[in-house]
Amino acid sequence: MPRLAPGQAKVLAVAIVVALVVGYFMGVWSLLGEWLSALWYLLAVETPVPNWLLGVFAICALIVAGLLGAALRPTRRIERPHQIHAQDNFFNIKWRWSYDEAGSVRQLTPYCRQCDHPLVLKNVGAGRPIDRYECRCEHCGTLACELDCSIEEFERRVLLRIDQAG
Ligand SMILES: [Zn+2]
Repeated sequence: MPRLAPGQAKVLAVAIVVALVVGYFMGVWSLLGEWLSALWYLLAVETPVPNWLLGVFAICALIVAGLLGAALRPTRRIERPHQIHAQDNFFNIKWRWSYDEAGSVRQLTPYCRQCDHPLVLKNVGAGRPIDRYECRCEHCGTLACELDCSIEEFERRVLLRIDQAG
């Protein structure tokens, strides 16, 4: 194996450190990559480089990498909120919903059990003393269910069933 000149060995050692750091953070902070490639170009051209300067560059790269890694960790957690999606059948309707961080039901949505199309509640009792709602699928025409109460009351009953099932 040919022996490297002391200057070349130093440059090689710094190149490995820089390459590792750039490789690790590639795609996370492209500016760092550009900055380090520019630095590497300068190091390659201006040989021999003093020992202390190479050391300073290597330490700087490691410190920046460490700080960047520490700064990125909490951001990743915020980007991916903890959300559970659930599904169950109540009153001949397929319900889908999700839970927020506090465990409350969010985005409760009715779907057709036959064709999975979203359902719309229609008031068919307008003008009568009590409102009547029909939950018919606009896609396949299936009548999922009829309500003799308000939509708010119906939703409350569904939430109660979800609570009992859970
Ligand atoms: Zn349908």
